[in-house]
Amino acid sequence: MNVSTTRILLGLALLFASLQDSSLNAEGTSTPAPAKPAPTPYEHTAPTNPALPPPDADIWKQTWHDMKRPMPPVSTPLPEEELAARSKAPSNAIVLFDGKDLSAWQPSNWIVKDGYMEVATNSAYLVSKQPFGSMKLHLEWLSPEPKPGQDGQKRNNSGVFPMGLYEIQVLDTYNNTNTYADGIAGSIYGQYPPISNPIRPPGHWQYYDITFHHPKFDAKGNLTRAAHVTLDFNGVRVQDNVTIIGPTSGAARRAYVAHPEALPLQLQYHHDPVRFRNIWAVPIED
Ligand code: MG
Repeated sequence: MNVSTTRILLGLALLFASLQDSSLNAEGTSTPAPAKPAPTPYEHTAPTNPALPPPDADIWKQTWHDMKRPMPPVSTPLPEEELAARSKAPSNAIVLFDGKDLSAWQPSNWIVKDGYMEVATNSAYLVSKQPFGSMKLHLEWLSPEPKPGQDGQKRNNSGVFPMGLYEIQVLDTYNNTNTYADGIAGSIYGQYPPISNPIRPPGHWQYYDITFHHPKFDAKGNLTRAAHVTLDFNGVRVQDNVTIIGPTSGAARRAYVAHPEALPLQLQYHHDPVRFRNIWAVPIED
């Protein structure tokens, strides 16, 4: 086995390990901070890589899942009628869910009814058939009314994973502050809380408009461009072209591992009956 073959096999093994990790790790619990695993140091020589934020950037000063990190202020969502009017798929969009079936997704037992899909019990992540790199992505999600005591990260958790690796959190964080700011709805999970929290109460549709740019790696697998993302949440910009510092994870911050420039989109199975509708993507060539 020559050196390049060994590198390729190693890269595939690391990618597989990363995907397994993001699929299997629970995202924490609603229990207070002392029950959480201790924050794990970032595993990368990140601040020396010019593709990542500089050493003095705020992201490196923040502790992962810090319960003391301030919650962002509540903001006012746009009226739902206005959001609905601007959320129709454009003619060049790839429609991933139009309320009828899961034909754009790999086989799954997620439920389809009344124009929406719902996370099934005893299920798994929903994985698109088509791989995507950079893209604009629109989707709408709804959290049912929480059960008594359903709190923190357990209050109807799901997530949007561009490339299956970088989670934009879905969670009912309407009057739900018993969790960490970098894990509320609109956060880049474990990295960036949203600038503000424009969530509607449970039982209402929430609108996500995501612009995602995939990371790039050189032939040796070194990161040359970090992923970055902008998120409009109910019409309010809550992530403004933030630089993702590595794959998101329920266990710790992770360093980048080289991967292809397009991978399937995934929606998270986190045991809760979160609903989705009107999902479409417009790929970006970059
Ligand atoms: Mg989640």
